[in-house]
Amino acid sequence: MNSTIYTTPPSHPSSLFPNITLCKTIKHLKQVHAHMIKTAQIHDPLAAAEVLRFCALSNNRDIHYARKVFDQMHQPNCFSWNTIIRALAESNDDGKPLAALLLFFQMVCDASVDPNQFTFPSVLKACAQTSRLKEGMQVHGLVVKYGLDSDEFVVSNLVRMYVMCGVMKDAHLLFIRNLIEFEEGDEVVRNNKKKEEGNVVLWNVMVDGYVMLGSLVLGEFGAARELFDSMPQRSVVSWNVMISGYAQNGLFKEAIEMFREMQMGDVCPNYVTLISVLPAISRFGALELGKWVHLYAEKNGIEIDDVLGSALVDMYSKCGSIEKALQVFERLPRKNAITWSTIIGGLAMHGRANDALDYFSRMERSGVTPSDVTYIGVLSACSHAGLVDEGRSFFSHMVKAVGFEPRIEHYGCMVDLLGRAGHLEEAEELILNMPIKPDDVIWKALLGACKIHGNIEMGRRVAKVLMDMVPHDSGSYVALSNMYASSGNWEAVADVRLMMKEMDIRKDPGCSWIELDGEIHEFLVDDDSHSRAKEIHSMLDEIANQLRLIGYRPDTSQVLLNLDEEEKESALQYHSEKIAVAFGLICTSPHTPLLIVKNLRICEDCHSSMKLISKIYKRKIVIRDRKRFHHFEHGSCSCKDYW
Ligand code: ZN
Ligand code: ZN
Repeated sequence: MNSTIYTTPPSHPSSLFPNITLCKTIKHLKQVHAHMIKTAQIHDPLAAAEVLRFCALSNNRDIHYARKVFDQMHQPNCFSWNTIIRALAESNDDGKPLAALLLFFQMVCDASVDPNQFTFPSVLKACAQTSRLKEGMQVHGLVVKYGLDSDEFVVSNLVRMYVMCGVMKDAHLLFIRNLIEFEEGDEVVRNNKKKEEGNVVLWNVMVDGYVMLGSLVLGEFGAARELFDSMPQRSVVSWNVMISGYAQNGLFKEAIEMFREMQMGDVCPNYVTLISVLPAISRFGALELGKWVHLYAEKNGIEIDDVLGSALVDMYSKCGSIEKALQVFERLPRKNAITWSTIIGGLAMHGRANDALDYFSRMERSGVTPSDVTYIGVLSACSHAGLVDEGRSFFSHMVKAVGFEPRIEHYGCMVDLLGRAGHLEEAEELILNMPIKPDDVIWKALLGACKIHGNIEMGRRVAKVLMDMVPHDSGSYVALSNMYASSGNWEAVADVRLMMKEMDIRKDPGCSWIELDGEIHEFLVDDDSHSRAKEIHSMLDEIANQLRLIGYRPDTSQVLLNLDEEEKESALQYHSEKIAVAFGLICTSPHTPLLIVKNLRICEDCHSSMKLISKIYKRKIVIRDRKRFHHFEHGSCSCKDYW
């Protein structure tokens, strides 16, 4: 709610009582208050109201003190009632919104003043926050009784109350009724501009309601979108509601499409828009769009504080540009624990373990306390670089010295670190002794390690656990089959295959994204749905020829026997990242680096061909897979084949 709706009481000559607006701190206010009690100035209702306003609503508020001041008021006026109710309703403290409600009923029952249009929005907010529909409906009745049911501010809060209490039908009804009233009432139309704005607020409340519902029931997003599309006028809030709604519920593509649409219209994005869209941009590695957001913020004087700054650092590092992420990071005037964790995690993802650890000690020196998320970054840096001793000591430092309860992610990093470095027993022991229930991700990390180190016995054991835990997940079958294949146990391979067939286990659909001129192109395995599919296919053929010319032979025996974690039935089919690379090669000028984001881990065949493609076509190819970044250049990869 807007604070400007409260008119300041007329100021008094300073000879009567000290100007409270000059108080800087609550301590100062208390001194003034004490003086006023001593000199009996506090009995002036306007003076008391000013004291109350300061401790209830100023930046230095102290709500407990405010309540005391209010309770001692002889006969509080409407302004004071509104002040204390609003302060309580807007407080995030447990129980405060309920106290606001109780106070309001007291006001209605035994006060000598009537509630007005400034009272109801706060009261309705309190009902919404505590999901008290019954009380909310009573308040609705009072709104009608006091003749305030055409005040747009009260009405929009009424609608929001119904939305928040989950009764969309009533909300919708009220919404429709009030929209029509705004359009048809003669008196009302006169104040057209203001009414239109009131209408936009109402629309926003409704769209927001459907978005909220959409996070519970997916179908409701359609309703939100439909309503949004039919809005006669949209404000920046309308756009933000949709973009953040999509992004927060994993509908990243929709979030980006919405943002692109907004860019073309006449409503300008603001701070909230940028914060909302950046995670979606990061998700697809849409660097161009991300750069646009950064430039837009700088050009339009949008403050890049620690929150927006962290989102930008995250965007640049997830879009493959760790250097730019570091640049933004260094220029931030204030860095909080999230900012530090973001850059450390980013460096880890890019395989720059030593830098990640350097930044970690810089963080500690700068006096910002690392959070448990920071340690996930640190441990994954160790894991990507095979720094076993360092990882072990960070983990035990975190548990013993700092006292963090390790989360499943911390254990995941440790199992990955130990397992890949060949300490299989230690990794298994860690899983078995975890105080929390291990999930499939952790077991898969160990299974992957068993495969790398050829420990069939443990591999079989782990695969069994996984098959019980997630019976329809292809990962464990694939890993087990590959393990048998590499030891030449064809019979066992055939058994696993048969089992997969019988249980109708399908592999994950692989998917890759590449951004060109701000547009995101999506490719699936063996995808020919793209409008330039023909060109892409001849490019793929050319790549295959070039690879053959320099002597690359996909080991066909391996291709046929080895399974990947994703669908690829025959050696002739292409994984999505290869299709994306072919597309990138066609559409960009020579030497342009290519950035591809993939939803699964890159397979060995794609990894080794990417190295060669980077050499043949003299391109830097950056691939972000589910786990980390691979920077392919001059025929080798930044991961040094340790992934
Ligand atoms: Zn592949
Ligand atoms: Zn690599």
